[in-house]
Amino acid sequence: MTINSKTMTLRENAGVHFLTYNKLSEIDFINHAFSTRLGGVSKGIFDSMNLSFEHDDFDTVTENYKRFCKGADFNFDTLVASSQDHHSFVRVCTKNECGIGITRPKDIKSVDALVTNEKGVTLVTYYADCTPLFFVDTKKKAIGLAHAGWRGTVQKIGAEVIKTMTENYGTDPADLVCAIGPAISVCCYEVDKSCADNFYALKLDDSKFVFPKSGGKFMVDLLEANRQILLSCGVKKENITVSDLCTRCNSDLLWSHRATAGKRGTMSAFMALK
Ligand SMILES: [Zn+2]
Repeated sequence: MTINSKTMTLRENAGVHFLTYNKLSEIDFINHAFSTRLGGVSKGIFDSMNLSFEHDDFDTVTENYKRFCKGADFNFDTLVASSQDHHSFVRVCTKNECGIGITRPKDIKSVDALVTNEKGVTLVTYYADCTPLFFVDTKKKAIGLAHAGWRGTVQKIGAEVIKTMTENYGTDPADLVCAIGPAISVCCYEVDKSCADNFYALKLDDSKFVFPKSGGKFMVDLLEANRQILLSCGVKKENITVSDLCTRCNSDLLWSHRATAGKRGTMSAFMALK
């Protein structure tokens, strides 16, 4: 399988297919990856790389994680997973949290973003149309991942991650390199007025991310809204890379909630300091 992307690369190793950002691959002290549907052992609607334990068999999903870690060069024993519910709480992770949500039970609810500045901690967050946000502080060597669906986006979870990194690691937003996506893109993300109103309320340049159409519907560009939120926090324009792969348009490669009417597996973003 091949992709047509200016910002991302599709890689294959040990039977596992995953995406990397060209801009993040230039940073030598991190490893990052975004999973696809391919390379796992799940069956049926989860065929084959499903990384959510919620509805699939536990041992099968564990095997998927092990295969993914082998293929994309992460240490399975260092994974720390989020506990997402479309809010904006950011968890500061250390080695003490390794295994949570993977080999150990989730210990707290409502964790939609993770940050760390420790080696030996691999952050893991979940997606199937919602927007992943990747953060790398190139000076302080700290990292973050966030899950930004429309609710997380309008709650400005990206700004919450930057605030948490600044408070805990002394991050200057000007030193951040960020990546946005892959997610359902403006070609496919139609919402009603009550949802669109939340995007107008952001008071950003909404002419670039809310597009009214007939029938009281709106097309929303989640990636652009998140990009503007990061810019408003002081991240430099040239340090933000945006995915050009729509999950719904590429639903043979990527899990899309809308393309599958919810009968689907789940992808994960992974990032660790080397
Ligand atoms: Zn699309």
